[in-house]
Amino acid sequence: MGILRKEKMRIVNSSTAGDRHFEVFNPYSNEVIGTCPKASLEDIASAFRTAKNYKASLSRAERSQILRKTAEILVSRKQEIAELITAESGLCLKDSTYEVGRAYDVFHLASTIVIKDDGEIFSCDITPHGKKRRIYTQRDPLLNAISAITPFNHPLNQVAHKVAPSIATNNRMVLKPSEKTPLTALILADILYEAGLPREMFQVVTGDPREIADALLTDPNVDLITFTGGVSVGKYISTHMGYRRAVLELGGNDPLIVMEDADLEEAATLAVAGSYKNSGQRCTAVKRMIVVEKVADKFVELLLEKTKKIKYGDPMDPETDMGTVIDEASARYCEDKVNDAVAHGAKLLYGNIRKGALYSPTVVDHVPFDCDLVRVETFGPVSPVIRVKDIDDAIRVSNSTAYGLSSGICTNRLDYITRFVKELEVGTVNIREVPGYRIEMSPFGGIKDSGLGYKEGVIEAMKCFTNVKTYSLPW
Ligand code: NAD
Repeated sequence: MGILRKEKMRIVNSSTAGDRHFEVFNPYSNEVIGTCPKASLEDIASAFRTAKNYKASLSRAERSQILRKTAEILVSRKQEIAELITAESGLCLKDSTYEVGRAYDVFHLASTIVIKDDGEIFSCDITPHGKKRRIYTQRDPLLNAISAITPFNHPLNQVAHKVAPSIATNNRMVLKPSEKTPLTALILADILYEAGLPREMFQVVTGDPREIADALLTDPNVDLITFTGGVSVGKYISTHMGYRRAVLELGGNDPLIVMEDADLEEAATLAVAGSYKNSGQRCTAVKRMIVVEKVADKFVELLLEKTKKIKYGDPMDPETDMGTVIDEASARYCEDKVNDAVAHGAKLLYGNIRKGALYSPTVVDHVPFDCDLVRVETFGPVSPVIRVKDIDDAIRVSNSTAYGLSSGICTNRLDYITRFVKELEVGTVNIREVPGYRIEMSPFGGIKDSGLGYKEGVIEAMKCFTNVKTYSLPW
C-alpha cells in the first residue's frame, strides 16, 4: 500500500488540532504508511468530558440497526480493510481477511443480542417472612465514560470486542489503539459514524503512551478501563487506576497437549494452525507443545512436514500463509529466545531465520520446560516441543508458568479429558481444538497473570459495561 494516510483523531473537540505526529510503518517494507496525531493531555480530558456529558438514549432497535449496518459495511469493504490491516501489522492477507470476518461476527451477534432484555424477576413471597412484592433488575449504562486500550495483534477485532458491547449498552467510549496499528481503528470509527453512531459514543485518540497513558487510567470521567495487552502494562494499570472497574485481558502461554492415544495427524494440524496463524501473535496461540514421550518422535515428524509447507513472506501476496511479526525488535526477541533454548539443550529442527521483521516458522524439540522460550510468552511463530512422561507430568508442566489463558488437548480418553478440565489452571480447555477456538459471544478470558476481572465475549462484556439496578413493586 503506497498511500500515505495523514490521519486526524476521531474526537469531537480537539484543542491541539494535531500539531505533533508519529509515524506508522509497514513492518514488511519499512515504509511509512501513515501519520497520526500525538494527543495532548487536554485532548484526552476533552474527549472524556464530551463522553461523560453526552446522554446516550438510543433505543434497542436503533442500537441493533447501527451494529447490523456496521457489520454490513465491514463486509462490503472487506478487501480494502484487510489490506489496511496487512499494511500496518504485517499480518498476511489470509489472516487479515479472516479478521474482518470475525469483526463482522462481533457486530452481527451484538446486533441480535441487544434486542433481548436481560432483566430478571424475583418473587418475594417465597419464605415465611416474605412479602407480596416482586424485585426486578435492569442494567443501566455506566454514569461516566469507558476508557479502552487495545494491542497491535488484531487491529480490528480487538477494537470490535470493546466498542460493540459499549454501543449495545448505550455507553460512551474513548479508545486508544496501539500506536503500532492505529489506522484500522480510525477507519472503524468512520464506519460506525456512517452506520449512524453519534460521535460522542465512540471517540478515538492516538499518541504516545508515555505521555497519555496515565490520563487514560485516571481521568475523573472514567468509570471503567477495558484493556487488552501484555502482562506488564496490565499490572501497571492495576496499580495506578484507583477506584474504578477494570477488565484486564493479558498475555498467554497456551499449551497444546498431545497424549499417547491422540490422532497425531490431527494434533500436528492443530499445532501448525495454532502456532503460525496471525504470525503466532495471538494471546491464545499455541506457545508450548507438551507431548507424551511415547508419541513425540512421530508427532515431531508430522509437525516438521506441515511446518515446511507454510509459505511465509510478502504479506500482501494472497498466496502467503504467514507474514511478518509486528517489528524487527519482536522478530529479534523470538530469535534470541530460540538461541537461548538451544544453549539450554533444545534442538533446533527448522527455521530461526530472520530478515527484518520477517521471522520464519520455527520448530524446536527437547525444549526444557523452564527455559525462557516457554516460561514467558514468546509472541511469534515458534513451535517449541516439550517432552513429558505421562498425564501427571503434562498437567504439572502446563501449570508451571504464571499464565492461565487457554489450552488445547489432543486425546479421546474421557478419564484424561475430565482430569484436564478439572486440573488445568486456565480459562478455557478445548478438546481436539486449538486453544484459540471460541465464538465471539462465548465468555473468554484467563486467570493468573492472563487476566483479571470480567471476561470478554459480547455477552460478558455487556454485563460488565453496566450497573445492575433493582427496583421492587407491590404484587
Ligand atoms: P502492550 O501491553 O505493549 O500494549 C497494549 C496497549 O497498551 C497499547 O495500546 C499501548 O500503547 C498501551 N500502553 C502502553 N503503556 C501503557 C500504560 N502504561 N498504561 C496504559 N496503556 C499502555 O501489548 P502489545 O504488545 O500491543 O500486545 C501484545 C500483548 O497483548 C501480548 O502479551 C498478548 O498476549 C496480549 N493480548 C491479550 C489478549 C487477551 O484477550 N488476553 C488478546 C490479544 C493480545
